[in-house]
This record gives sequence, C-alpha cells and structure tokens, in this order.
Amino acid sequence: MSTGDAGSLHTALDRVARPVRDILARALDGAEVSVAEGDLLARATGRDLQALTLAADELRRRQVGDTVTFVINRNINFTNVCIKHCGFCAFSRDHREEEGYLLPVAEVVRRAREARDLGATEVCIQAGLPPKLEGRYYIDLARAITQALPGLHIHAFSPEEVLYGSVRSGLSIKEYLAELKDAGLGTLPGTSAEILDQEIRDRISRGRITVDQWVEVITTAHALGIRTTSTIMYGHVEAPEHWVRHMALLRTIQKDTGGFTEFVPLSLIHSEAPMYAKGLVPGVRPGATGVEVVRMHALARVLLGAVIPNVQASWVKEGPKLAQALLDAGANDLGGTLINESISTSAGAGYGQLVGPGELVRWIREAGRVPAQRDTAYRILKTYRDGETPASPLDAVEDAEARFGSYRRLIASGEFRFMQR
Ligand code: SF4
Repeated sequence: MSTGDAGSLHTALDRVARPVRDILARALDGAEVSVAEGDLLARATGRDLQALTLAADELRRRQVGDTVTFVINRNINFTNVCIKHCGFCAFSRDHREEEGYLLPVAEVVRRAREARDLGATEVCIQAGLPPKLEGRYYIDLARAITQALPGLHIHAFSPEEVLYGSVRSGLSIKEYLAELKDAGLGTLPGTSAEILDQEIRDRISRGRITVDQWVEVITTAHALGIRTTSTIMYGHVEAPEHWVRHMALLRTIQKDTGGFTEFVPLSLIHSEAPMYAKGLVPGVRPGATGVEVVRMHALARVLLGAVIPNVQASWVKEGPKLAQALLDAGANDLGGTLINESISTSAGAGYGQLVGPGELVRWIREAGRVPAQRDTAYRILKTYRDGETPASPLDAVEDAEARFGSYRRLIASGEFRFMQR
C-alpha cells in the first residue's frame, strides 16, 4: 500500500461508525467476515460505504494486484423458446409464439467459427429450455463444436440446462456432466443462481431450479473437474441479508471444491422484465441503484476475495462508465467482448452487444490499471504495457448488428423460427 493509499484508508476508517470500522480493520488483517458482520456492511451508506469501498480496493490490490482482465468471447443464445416463466426474464418465448427461434447446430458452429477467426478464445452458450428437447442435445452440441473447432473453449449450459438435459435424457446429473466433459465442455456458467434463497426464488421464478439442485449441479461439476463461474442477480425483491447469505454459501462451496473461477454480480435489468413491467411480483424494485451496485461489488471483494479472487464488473448490466468505476470498488475483471447479447438486451439494457478489446483496454488504462487479455480460467494471455493497444479485427467492426446479427433481427426475421417437432 502506498503512503497515500494508507492515509486515505486510515482517514476513511477513522470517520466511520465503530462496528463497521472494526469489521473492516479485521478484514484488512486477514480475518473472515461473518454473516452477521457482512449484514452490517451490506447496509453501509455515506462514509461507511466509502470506507467499505476503500477497504475492498485495498484487498483487491493485495489479492490480485493492479491487472484488470477481459476475455475475447462470443455469446450464442441458441434458442429463446422456454418452458419456464421466470419473472425477470424478457428473453424467453412460448413455443407457439412467432418470435420463438432455434439456431440449428450448423449455425451455432458457424457463429463460433466466425468468433474464433476474429480472435475469440471462448464461446459462451446458454439458452431457453425448449419443450420436448432431445435429452442428449447439449452433449451433441458440445461435441459438434469441439469436432469443428478443437481448442475453442466451450463455456456453456447453466445448471438449469444441465438439470433439464439430465431429466430429459434419464441420465443422472453426474453422468450428464461427465458426458458433457467428454464431449468437450470446458466450464459451466454459474448462472440460474439469482438469489440462492428458496423463498425469494419462489417469488420471482417459481418452478426454476431449486437452491439444492443448483448446489448439486455446481458441486458435482467441480468434483468432476469442471470449473464454473458464480453469480448473483440483485435489485428486485431481495434484502441485504440475502446477498450476504448467498455469498456465504458460495464461500462455503469454494472452500470445499475450489471450483469457482469468478464471482459476477448481475443487477436486474427491469424495464422489460415481466415481473416489473406487468406488475407480477409485489414489491419488486426497478433494479439496483448506483449505490447498491457499488456496495455489492465492494462487499463481494471483502466477503469472497480471499477464496474467489476474481470479481467481475459487467459492462452489459451496469454500462461502461459504472463498470469502469467499479474497478475502484473491488472489481478486477470486465468480462468479455460478447459480440452478441440477447438476454440483457431483451430486458431493456441499452449498452450494445460488442465492445472490442481496444475499448476495454482504454477503460482499464484510464482507471490507472494494467489491461490484460485472459482465457476463461483466468490465465493471462497478453498484458498490454506502456500504451500498447490490441490489434483486434473486432475493433474495426463499425456496425456490429449488421455484421453479427442481433436479438432484435433474429426474432423479427423468422429465419430460424422455432418449429415444434
Ligand atoms: S431465465 Fe432461462 S429458464 Fe427462466 S424463462 Fe428465461 S430462458 Fe427460461
């Protein structure tokens, strides 16, 4: 810590409420923050929040240094047809709706190849749960990509999709995951977590994968050597104690398995979310406020950083400016280039679908940090030093929607319209 950093941190701690000061001081000494202590931090405002943020920034510096990473990847949401009706999801369509689409496997492979040829190291594949899906569909899709594009990392299938594949195929979760791995799956997104509290889940997404099932899929994946991300979706009906209990559960899992690569806070994009737009869930908030977003990332660093050192700021959810500012509140990663984005876009996010490596490097450097491209497992592929900039064809793309397509075009064109077999 530089003298200036130490001074501002000590000054900030001097001015905050005694309990918060003591918790942060102990956290800076390496102590684990308990659920009760986290609960207090999760409500911090004003100077308490400033102190929390400064402590998070210092812990970030000690745990991962000044490097800020990003991955060159492409999202492929191969179908929006889904049998579930999660209250926060504006992406899914019923199988009878005209806007339902399903990308053929060849189109998924084509999109993956296009991304690889533009420098992507990862494809991120998640989708709805179409009715009557052939049970081995996810396995066959992973194998088709692996055979066509060996070496491209497949980061795919949420725990909800793994559970669906398992149920539809009659294979156990362990057998299904083992087959996915054998077919070339690299890592699993730790999405469909939302808030890992059954009561909250029943309010916002009744019928979704349960807390116990989510934990089973994740820990089984970890036991098989399949690493996963971890996420939280916040800014709806949950309260601060749910954030803390959610993080404490992830912390317990991580101490046991070591399988999480990162933690990604995802604030609710509310404007088109049915539970907000149609008033389906009483008391639902219109997403997280700016203060909540800062508090969430700082809290994640303080509660999780010792065991999950990578905390991601999502430019899709928070926008580029807030995501950049979160690098001073505990975050050390800006996620991916994405190329296509459907789920947040359909819910009303307005931040576009592609940010090239050059732009990500610019944000990181402007924040006074060291930009680096990583792979999915957080291995550094290239560090950009002393004004060096990426030479990526993605930065030359002027109209990403015309070049790569978009969710809006996909649902309007009817080209890949879902047909029930
Ligand atoms: S969040 Fe996933 S499971 Fe839920 S309705 Fe949307 S696509 Fe379906």
